[in-house]
Amino acid sequence: MKDVAIVGGGPSGCFMGEKLAKKGFKTTIVEEHSEVGQPMCCAGILGAQRLLKETGLDPKNWSVNELKGGIFNPPSGNSVKLTRNQTEAYAIDRARFDRSLAERAVRAGAELRLNTRCTEVSPRENKVSLKTETQNGKEQLESRLVIGADGTNSLVARNCDLMKEFSPTICAQAEIVKETEDFDARVYVGNELSQDFFAWKVPAGDVYRVGLGDKEGNVKEKLHKFMKNTSDFSQNTQNKMVRLTTDLIPTPNTRKIYGNRVLLIGDAAGQVKPLTGGGLYLGLSCAKIASQVAAEALEKEPSEKNLQKYEASVNEKFGREFELGARARKILKKMTDEDLSEFIELLEKPKIRNLILENADFDRHSNLFKTLIKKGPSLIKSVGARKLTKYLSWLMDS
Ligand SMILES: Cc1cc2nc3c(=O)[nH]c(=O)nc-3n(C[C@H](O)[C@H](O)[C@H](O)COP(=O)(O)OP(=O)(O)OC[C@H]3O[C@@H](n4cnc5c(N)ncnc54)[C@H](O)[C@@H]3O)c2cc1C
Repeated sequence: MKDVAIVGGGPSGCFMGEKLAKKGFKTTIVEEHSEVGQPMCCAGILGAQRLLKETGLDPKNWSVNELKGGIFNPPSGNSVKLTRNQTEAYAIDRARFDRSLAERAVRAGAELRLNTRCTEVSPRENKVSLKTETQNGKEQLESRLVIGADGTNSLVARNCDLMKEFSPTICAQAEIVKETEDFDARVYVGNELSQDFFAWKVPAGDVYRVGLGDKEGNVKEKLHKFMKNTSDFSQNTQNKMVRLTTDLIPTPNTRKIYGNRVLLIGDAAGQVKPLTGGGLYLGLSCAKIASQVAAEALEKEPSEKNLQKYEASVNEKFGREFELGARARKILKKMTDEDLSEFIELLEKPKIRNLILENADFDRHSNLFKTLIKKGPSLIKSVGARKLTKYLSWLMDS
Protein backbone atom coordinates (compact mmCIF):
# COMPACT_ATOMS: atom_id res chain seq x y z
CA MET A 1 0.00 0.00 0.00
CA LYS A 2 1.21 3.52 -0.82
CA ASP A 3 1.41 6.18 1.88
CA VAL A 4 -0.03 8.87 -0.36
CA ALA A 5 -1.94 8.91 -3.66
CA ILE A 6 -2.12 12.34 -5.30
CA VAL A 7 -4.81 12.79 -7.94
CA GLY A 8 -3.64 15.42 -10.45
CA GLY A 9 -0.17 16.17 -11.82
CA GLY A 10 -0.59 19.95 -12.02
CA PRO A 11 1.69 22.34 -10.11
CA SER A 12 0.01 21.82 -6.71
CA GLY A 13 0.00 18.01 -6.96
CA CYS A 14 3.60 17.75 -8.17
CA PHE A 15 4.90 20.22 -5.57
CA MET A 16 3.11 18.29 -2.80
CA GLY A 17 4.45 15.03 -4.28
CA GLU A 18 7.99 16.35 -4.17
CA LYS A 19 7.64 17.47 -0.55
CA LEU A 20 6.20 14.15 0.68
CA ALA A 21 8.59 11.97 -1.31
CA LYS A 22 11.50 13.96 0.12
CA LYS A 23 10.22 13.15 3.60
CA GLY A 24 10.40 9.44 2.70
CA PHE A 25 6.68 8.73 2.12
CA LYS A 26 5.77 6.30 -0.68
CA THR A 27 3.98 8.71 -3.02
CA THR A 28 2.16 8.15 -6.31
CA ILE A 29 0.81 10.94 -8.53
CA VAL A 30 -1.83 9.98 -11.08
CA GLU A 31 -2.34 12.28 -14.07
CA GLU A 32 -4.98 11.65 -16.70
CA HIS A 33 -3.08 13.25 -19.60
CA SER A 34 -0.15 11.75 -21.47
CA GLU A 35 1.98 14.80 -20.75
CA VAL A 36 2.27 17.13 -17.75
CA GLY A 37 1.45 20.77 -18.57
CA GLN A 38 -0.87 20.05 -21.52
CA PRO A 39 -3.51 21.08 -22.47
CA MET A 40 -2.84 24.54 -21.05
CA CYS A 41 -5.18 27.50 -20.45
CA CYS A 42 -3.50 30.07 -18.22
CA ALA A 43 -2.26 33.67 -18.47
CA GLY A 44 0.81 32.40 -16.61
CA ILE A 45 1.44 35.47 -14.45
CA LEU A 46 3.50 34.93 -11.31
CA GLY A 47 4.30 37.71 -8.82
CA ALA A 48 8.03 38.47 -8.65
CA GLN A 49 8.39 38.29 -4.85
CA ARG A 50 6.28 35.99 -2.73
CA LEU A 51 6.47 32.65 -4.51
CA LEU A 52 10.27 32.70 -4.36
CA LYS A 53 10.30 33.73 -0.69
CA GLU A 54 7.74 31.16 0.40
CA THR A 55 8.45 28.15 -1.79
CA GLY A 56 11.96 28.66 -3.18
CA LEU A 57 10.57 28.54 -6.75
CA ASP A 58 11.97 31.51 -8.70
CA PRO A 59 9.49 32.61 -11.42
CA LYS A 60 12.40 34.17 -13.32
CA ASN A 61 13.52 30.63 -14.29
CA TRP A 62 10.41 30.17 -16.43
CA SER A 63 9.92 33.80 -17.53
CA VAL A 64 9.06 34.67 -21.11
CA ASN A 65 8.21 38.32 -20.34
CA GLU A 66 8.78 40.77 -17.49
CA LEU A 67 5.64 42.66 -16.48
CA LYS A 68 6.16 46.17 -15.11
CA GLY A 69 2.72 47.70 -15.01
CA GLY A 70 -1.01 47.27 -15.29
CA ILE A 71 -3.27 49.19 -17.65
CA PHE A 72 -6.89 49.26 -16.50
CA ASN A 73 -9.50 49.77 -19.23
CA PRO A 74 -12.98 50.90 -18.09
CA PRO A 75 -16.03 50.98 -20.36
CA SER A 76 -15.52 54.74 -20.95
CA GLY A 77 -12.28 53.91 -22.78
CA ASN A 78 -10.22 56.26 -20.59
CA SER A 79 -7.55 53.77 -19.57
CA VAL A 80 -5.29 54.28 -16.55
CA LYS A 81 -1.76 52.91 -16.24
CA LEU A 82 -0.25 52.04 -12.87
CA THR A 83 3.44 51.23 -12.66
CA ARG A 84 6.32 51.41 -10.20
CA ASN A 85 8.79 50.98 -13.08
CA GLN A 86 10.09 47.74 -11.66
CA THR A 87 9.40 44.10 -12.46
CA GLU A 88 6.20 43.29 -10.58
CA ALA A 89 5.55 39.90 -12.12
CA TYR A 90 6.62 37.50 -14.85
CA ALA A 91 4.62 35.92 -17.62
CA ILE A 92 5.94 32.38 -17.51
CA ASP A 93 6.00 29.38 -19.84
CA ARG A 94 3.34 27.45 -17.89
CA ALA A 95 3.89 24.11 -19.62
CA ARG A 96 7.63 24.21 -18.88
CA PHE A 97 6.89 25.28 -15.28
CA ASP A 98 4.54 22.32 -14.74
CA ARG A 99 7.04 19.89 -16.29
CA SER A 100 9.83 21.20 -14.02
CA LEU A 101 7.69 20.59 -10.95
CA ALA A 102 6.89 17.06 -12.17
CA GLU A 103 10.60 16.38 -12.74
CA ARG A 104 11.40 17.59 -9.23
CA ALA A 105 8.74 15.28 -7.77
CA VAL A 106 10.07 12.25 -9.68
CA ARG A 107 13.66 13.10 -8.77
CA ALA A 108 12.61 13.23 -5.10
CA GLY A 109 11.26 9.66 -5.40
CA ALA A 110 7.58 10.10 -6.25
CA GLU A 111 6.02 7.79 -8.83
CA LEU A 112 4.21 9.64 -11.65
CA ARG A 113 1.63 7.63 -13.56
CA LEU A 114 0.66 9.44 -16.77
CA ASN A 115 -2.37 8.46 -18.88
CA THR A 116 -4.02 7.39 -15.63
CA ARG A 117 -7.44 8.76 -14.91
CA CYS A 118 -8.88 8.38 -11.43
CA THR A 119 -12.57 7.44 -11.69
CA GLU A 120 -13.52 6.83 -8.08
CA VAL A 121 -12.13 7.59 -4.63
CA SER A 122 -13.44 5.82 -1.52
CA PRO A 123 -11.94 6.69 1.85
CA ARG A 124 -12.50 3.80 4.32
CA GLU A 125 -11.74 3.15 7.97
CA ASN A 126 -8.06 2.17 7.50
CA LYS A 127 -7.19 3.02 3.85
CA VAL A 128 -8.33 4.85 0.71
CA SER A 129 -9.24 2.90 -2.45
CA LEU A 130 -8.85 4.56 -5.84
CA LYS A 131 -10.16 3.17 -9.09
CA THR A 132 -8.18 4.24 -12.15
CA GLU A 133 -8.40 3.78 -15.92
CA THR A 134 -5.32 3.45 -18.09
CA GLN A 135 -4.70 2.39 -21.69
CA ASN A 136 -4.33 -1.16 -20.35
CA GLY A 137 -7.73 -1.13 -18.65
CA LYS A 138 -8.99 -0.62 -15.12
CA GLU A 139 -6.69 -0.69 -12.11
CA GLN A 140 -6.96 -0.25 -8.36
CA LEU A 141 -4.66 1.77 -6.09
CA GLU A 142 -4.62 1.79 -2.29
CA SER A 143 -3.07 4.39 -0.02
CA ARG A 144 -3.23 5.64 3.55
CA LEU A 145 -4.02 9.22 2.42
CA VAL A 146 -5.38 10.75 -0.77
CA ILE A 147 -4.66 14.30 -1.97
CA GLY A 148 -7.15 15.95 -4.33
CA ALA A 149 -5.00 18.12 -6.62
CA ASP A 150 -7.32 17.51 -9.55
CA GLY A 151 -8.39 21.05 -10.37
CA THR A 152 -11.64 23.01 -10.18
CA ASN A 153 -14.05 20.17 -11.03
CA SER A 154 -12.37 17.89 -8.49
CA LEU A 155 -13.52 14.27 -8.49
CA VAL A 156 -11.84 13.80 -5.11
CA ALA A 157 -13.83 16.69 -3.62
CA ARG A 158 -17.07 15.27 -5.05
CA ASN A 159 -16.44 11.64 -4.04
CA CYS A 160 -15.40 12.63 -0.51
CA ASP A 161 -18.41 14.97 -0.02
CA LEU A 162 -16.21 18.07 0.27
CA MET A 163 -17.73 20.09 -2.61
CA LYS A 164 -20.23 22.48 -0.99
CA GLU A 165 -21.01 24.52 -4.09
CA PHE A 166 -19.90 24.49 -7.73
CA SER A 167 -19.95 27.98 -9.22
CA PRO A 168 -16.77 28.37 -11.28
CA THR A 169 -15.80 31.15 -13.65
CA ILE A 170 -15.58 29.83 -17.21
CA CYS A 171 -12.65 31.21 -19.19
CA ALA A 172 -11.55 31.28 -22.81
CA GLN A 173 -8.05 32.30 -23.75
CA ALA A 174 -6.38 32.81 -27.12
CA GLU A 175 -2.75 33.29 -28.03
CA ILE A 176 -2.22 35.86 -30.74
CA VAL A 177 1.06 36.69 -32.41
CA LYS A 178 2.75 39.72 -30.86
CA GLU A 179 4.94 41.99 -32.92
CA THR A 180 6.19 44.70 -30.55
CA GLU A 181 8.01 44.83 -27.22
CA ASP A 182 5.56 45.26 -24.34
CA PHE A 183 5.83 45.08 -20.54
CA ASP A 184 2.27 45.91 -19.44
CA ALA A 185 -0.61 43.58 -18.62
CA ARG A 186 -4.02 44.97 -19.58
CA VAL A 187 -7.30 44.40 -17.78
CA TYR A 188 -10.68 45.29 -19.32
CA VAL A 189 -13.89 45.58 -17.30
CA GLY A 190 -17.50 46.31 -18.22
CA ASN A 191 -20.90 44.68 -17.91
CA GLU A 192 -21.23 44.24 -21.70
CA LEU A 193 -17.96 42.37 -21.65
CA SER A 194 -18.48 40.18 -18.59
CA GLN A 195 -21.00 40.40 -15.76
CA ASP A 196 -18.83 38.55 -13.25
CA PHE A 197 -15.19 38.79 -14.25
CA PHE A 198 -13.00 40.64 -16.77
CA ALA A 199 -10.90 40.31 -19.92
CA TRP A 200 -7.11 40.50 -20.20
CA LYS A 201 -4.22 40.92 -22.62
CA VAL A 202 -0.84 39.79 -21.34
CA PRO A 203 2.42 40.04 -23.30
CA ALA A 204 4.13 36.65 -23.11
CA GLY A 205 7.20 36.32 -25.31
CA ASP A 206 6.16 35.99 -28.95
CA VAL A 207 2.44 36.08 -28.20
CA TYR A 208 -0.22 37.94 -26.29
CA ARG A 209 -2.42 35.80 -24.07
CA VAL A 210 -5.87 37.30 -24.51
CA GLY A 211 -8.70 35.96 -22.42
CA LEU A 212 -12.09 36.55 -20.88
CA GLY A 213 -13.98 34.93 -18.01
CA ASP A 214 -17.61 34.96 -16.92
CA LYS A 215 -19.92 32.80 -14.84
CA GLU A 216 -22.40 32.25 -17.63
CA GLY A 217 -22.76 32.27 -21.40
CA ASN A 218 -20.53 31.27 -24.29
CA VAL A 219 -17.15 32.68 -23.32
CA LYS A 220 -15.50 31.87 -26.67
CA GLU A 221 -18.12 34.01 -28.42
CA LYS A 222 -17.67 36.75 -25.82
CA LEU A 223 -13.89 36.68 -26.36
CA HIS A 224 -14.27 37.04 -30.15
CA LYS A 225 -16.72 39.92 -29.65
CA PHE A 226 -14.39 41.61 -27.16
CA MET A 227 -11.44 41.46 -29.59
CA LYS A 228 -13.58 42.69 -32.46
CA ASN A 229 -14.89 45.68 -30.47
CA THR A 230 -11.70 46.75 -28.68
CA SER A 231 -9.33 49.25 -30.26
CA ASP A 232 -6.26 47.49 -28.76
CA PHE A 233 -6.74 44.75 -31.35
CA SER A 234 -6.28 45.31 -35.06
CA GLN A 235 -8.88 44.41 -37.69
CA ASN A 236 -7.21 41.13 -38.52
CA THR A 237 -6.35 40.10 -34.93
CA GLN A 238 -8.54 37.02 -35.24
CA ASN A 239 -6.26 35.85 -38.09
CA LYS A 240 -3.22 36.10 -35.82
CA MET A 241 -4.72 33.69 -33.30
CA VAL A 242 -2.61 30.57 -32.92
CA ARG A 243 -4.38 28.83 -30.03
CA LEU A 244 -7.77 28.92 -28.30
CA THR A 245 -8.49 27.03 -25.07
CA THR A 246 -11.06 27.05 -22.26
CA ASP A 247 -10.87 26.18 -18.57
CA LEU A 248 -12.51 26.88 -15.20
CA ILE A 249 -11.50 28.98 -12.20
CA PRO A 250 -13.00 27.89 -8.86
CA THR A 251 -14.71 30.16 -6.35
CA PRO A 252 -12.88 30.29 -3.00
CA ASN A 253 -14.61 28.96 0.13
CA THR A 254 -16.85 26.58 -1.82
CA ARG A 255 -15.21 23.38 -0.54
CA LYS A 256 -14.24 21.85 2.78
CA ILE A 257 -10.52 21.17 2.35
CA TYR A 258 -9.98 18.14 4.60
CA GLY A 259 -11.78 14.96 5.63
CA ASN A 260 -11.00 11.43 6.78
CA ARG A 261 -7.80 10.41 4.91
CA VAL A 262 -8.21 13.25 2.41
CA LEU A 263 -6.85 16.76 1.77
CA LEU A 264 -7.64 19.11 -1.11
CA ILE A 265 -5.04 21.50 -2.50
CA GLY A 266 -4.84 24.14 -5.25
CA ASP A 267 -7.84 24.71 -7.52
CA ALA A 268 -9.48 21.55 -6.15
CA ALA A 269 -9.57 23.37 -2.79
CA GLY A 270 -10.70 26.70 -4.31
CA GLN A 271 -7.35 28.28 -3.39
CA VAL A 272 -7.34 31.23 -5.82
CA LYS A 273 -7.30 35.01 -5.39
CA PRO A 274 -11.00 35.97 -5.41
CA LEU A 275 -10.41 39.16 -7.37
CA THR A 276 -8.27 37.84 -10.24
CA GLY A 277 -8.57 34.04 -10.08
CA GLY A 278 -4.76 33.67 -9.91
CA GLY A 279 -4.10 30.36 -8.18
CA LEU A 280 -0.47 29.37 -8.71
CA TYR A 281 1.05 31.17 -5.73
CA LEU A 282 -1.84 30.29 -3.39
CA GLY A 283 -2.03 26.65 -4.52
CA LEU A 284 1.70 26.11 -4.06
CA SER A 285 1.77 27.92 -0.72
CA CYS A 286 -1.15 25.83 0.55
CA ALA A 287 0.45 22.62 -0.82
CA LYS A 288 3.45 23.42 1.36
CA ILE A 289 1.19 23.77 4.42
CA ALA A 290 -0.68 20.58 3.45
CA SER A 291 2.56 18.60 3.11
CA GLN A 292 3.58 19.56 6.66
CA VAL A 293 0.18 18.60 8.13
CA ALA A 294 0.08 15.37 6.07
CA ALA A 295 3.58 14.35 7.16
CA GLU A 296 2.68 14.80 10.84
CA ALA A 297 -0.62 12.94 10.42
CA LEU A 298 1.03 10.05 8.52
CA GLU A 299 3.33 9.46 11.48
CA LYS A 300 0.10 8.50 13.34
CA GLU A 301 -3.11 8.07 11.34
CA PRO A 302 -4.36 10.53 8.69
CA SER A 303 -7.78 10.70 10.33
CA GLU A 304 -10.06 13.73 9.97
CA LYS A 305 -9.07 14.84 13.46
CA ASN A 306 -5.34 14.69 12.66
CA LEU A 307 -5.83 16.61 9.40
CA GLN A 308 -8.05 19.44 10.64
CA LYS A 309 -5.03 21.59 11.44
CA TYR A 310 -4.63 22.10 7.65
CA GLU A 311 -7.77 24.22 7.37
CA ALA A 312 -6.86 26.24 10.47
CA SER A 313 -3.35 26.93 9.10
CA VAL A 314 -4.64 27.91 5.65
CA ASN A 315 -7.19 30.23 7.21
CA GLU A 316 -4.61 31.78 9.47
CA LYS A 317 -2.44 32.60 6.46
CA PHE A 318 -5.04 33.35 3.78
CA GLY A 319 -8.46 33.63 5.47
CA ARG A 320 -8.48 37.44 5.41
CA GLU A 321 -7.28 37.36 1.80
CA PHE A 322 -10.25 35.21 0.74
CA GLU A 323 -12.72 37.25 2.78
CA LEU A 324 -11.68 40.74 1.65
CA GLY A 325 -11.15 39.58 -1.93
CA ALA A 326 -14.65 38.10 -2.03
CA ARG A 327 -16.08 41.37 -0.70
CA ALA A 328 -14.23 43.37 -3.35
CA ARG A 329 -15.53 41.02 -6.07
CA LYS A 330 -19.09 41.44 -4.75
CA ILE A 331 -18.74 45.24 -4.90
CA LEU A 332 -17.40 45.10 -8.47
CA LYS A 333 -20.40 43.00 -9.50
CA LYS A 334 -22.73 45.69 -8.19
CA MET A 335 -21.13 48.42 -10.27
CA THR A 336 -22.76 49.77 -13.41
CA ASP A 337 -20.53 50.62 -16.38
CA GLU A 338 -20.67 54.24 -15.25
CA ASP A 339 -19.52 53.27 -11.73
CA LEU A 340 -16.67 51.18 -13.14
CA SER A 341 -15.45 54.02 -15.37
CA GLU A 342 -15.73 56.54 -12.54
CA PHE A 343 -13.86 54.22 -10.17
CA ILE A 344 -10.98 53.45 -12.56
CA GLU A 345 -10.61 57.10 -13.51
CA LEU A 346 -10.10 57.87 -9.79
CA LEU A 347 -6.82 55.95 -10.01
CA GLU A 348 -5.40 58.97 -11.88
CA LYS A 349 -5.74 61.17 -8.76
CA PRO A 350 -2.24 61.57 -7.26
CA LYS A 351 -3.25 60.80 -3.65
CA ILE A 352 -5.05 57.61 -4.63
CA ARG A 353 -2.41 56.55 -7.15
CA ASN A 354 0.34 56.97 -4.53
CA LEU A 355 -1.62 55.08 -1.91
CA ILE A 356 -2.05 52.19 -4.33
CA LEU A 357 1.55 52.17 -5.49
CA GLU A 358 2.75 52.22 -1.88
CA ASN A 359 0.48 49.41 -0.69
CA ALA A 360 -0.32 47.14 -3.63
CA ASP A 361 1.07 43.63 -3.34
CA PHE A 362 0.66 41.39 -6.39
CA ASP A 363 -0.18 38.28 -4.38
CA ARG A 364 -1.73 39.79 -1.25
CA HIS A 365 -4.57 42.09 -2.30
CA SER A 366 -5.81 42.37 1.29
CA ASN A 367 -2.90 44.71 2.15
CA LEU A 368 -4.33 47.35 -0.18
CA PHE A 369 -7.97 46.70 0.81
CA LYS A 370 -7.12 47.18 4.50
CA THR A 371 -5.32 50.47 3.77
CA LEU A 372 -8.20 51.73 1.63
CA ILE A 373 -10.70 50.92 4.39
CA LYS A 374 -8.51 52.60 7.02
CA LYS A 375 -7.69 55.68 4.95
CA GLY A 376 -11.11 55.93 3.28
CA PRO A 377 -12.31 59.09 5.13
CA SER A 378 -9.04 60.94 4.43
CA LEU A 379 -9.61 60.46 0.68
CA ILE A 380 -12.78 62.57 0.73
CA LYS A 381 -11.17 65.43 -1.22
CA SER A 382 -9.79 63.16 -3.95
CA VAL A 383 -12.84 60.94 -4.24
CA GLY A 384 -15.63 63.44 -3.49
CA ALA A 385 -18.26 63.08 -0.75
CA ARG A 386 -20.98 61.58 -2.97
CA LYS A 387 -18.80 58.81 -4.39
CA LEU A 388 -17.15 58.08 -1.05
CA THR A 389 -20.54 57.63 0.66
CA LYS A 390 -21.60 55.31 -2.15
CA TYR A 391 -18.44 53.18 -1.88
CA LEU A 392 -18.67 53.00 1.92
CA SER A 393 -22.31 51.87 1.74
CA TRP A 394 -21.33 49.11 -0.74
CA LEU A 395 -18.59 48.05 1.65
CA MET A 396 -21.09 47.80 4.54
CA ASP A 397 -23.49 45.73 2.40
CA SER A 398 -20.85 43.34 1.07
C1 LIG B 1 -7.77 31.30 -18.25
C2 LIG B 1 -7.00 31.15 -16.97
C3 LIG B 1 -5.97 32.02 -16.68
C4 LIG B 1 -5.24 31.89 -15.50
N1 LIG B 1 -4.20 32.74 -15.27
C5 LIG B 1 -3.48 32.62 -14.13
C6 LIG B 1 -2.37 33.47 -13.88
O1 LIG B 1 -2.01 34.33 -14.69
N2 LIG B 1 -1.69 33.32 -12.71
C7 LIG B 1 -2.05 32.38 -11.78
O2 LIG B 1 -1.41 32.31 -10.72
N3 LIG B 1 -3.08 31.56 -12.01
C8 LIG B 1 -3.79 31.64 -13.15
N4 LIG B 1 -4.84 30.79 -13.39
C9 LIG B 1 -5.14 29.76 -12.38
C10 LIG B 1 -4.14 28.61 -12.47
O3 LIG B 1 -4.12 28.11 -13.78
C11 LIG B 1 -4.57 27.51 -11.48
O4 LIG B 1 -4.74 28.11 -10.22
C12 LIG B 1 -3.52 26.40 -11.40
O5 LIG B 1 -3.45 25.70 -12.61
C13 LIG B 1 -3.91 25.43 -10.28
O6 LIG B 1 -3.00 24.36 -10.24
P1 LIG B 1 -3.49 22.95 -9.68
O7 LIG B 1 -2.29 22.09 -9.70
O8 LIG B 1 -4.20 23.15 -8.40
O9 LIG B 1 -4.58 22.44 -10.70
P2 LIG B 1 -4.47 22.17 -12.26
O10 LIG B 1 -3.39 22.97 -12.88
O11 LIG B 1 -5.86 22.32 -12.78
O12 LIG B 1 -4.05 20.65 -12.36
C14 LIG B 1 -4.96 19.61 -12.10
C15 LIG B 1 -4.42 18.37 -12.78
O13 LIG B 1 -5.25 17.25 -12.42
C16 LIG B 1 -5.47 16.45 -13.55
N5 LIG B 1 -6.71 15.70 -13.30
C17 LIG B 1 -7.96 16.20 -13.13
N6 LIG B 1 -8.85 15.21 -12.87
C18 LIG B 1 -8.12 14.07 -12.86
C19 LIG B 1 -8.49 12.70 -12.65
N7 LIG B 1 -9.75 12.34 -12.38
N8 LIG B 1 -7.51 11.75 -12.72
C20 LIG B 1 -6.22 12.11 -12.99
N9 LIG B 1 -5.84 13.39 -13.20
C21 LIG B 1 -6.77 14.35 -13.13
C22 LIG B 1 -5.56 17.44 -14.70
O14 LIG B 1 -5.28 16.82 -15.94
C23 LIG B 1 -4.48 18.46 -14.31
O15 LIG B 1 -3.22 18.12 -14.84
C24 LIG B 1 -5.58 30.88 -14.56
C25 LIG B 1 -6.63 30.01 -14.84
C26 LIG B 1 -7.34 30.13 -16.03
C27 LIG B 1 -8.46 29.19 -16.33
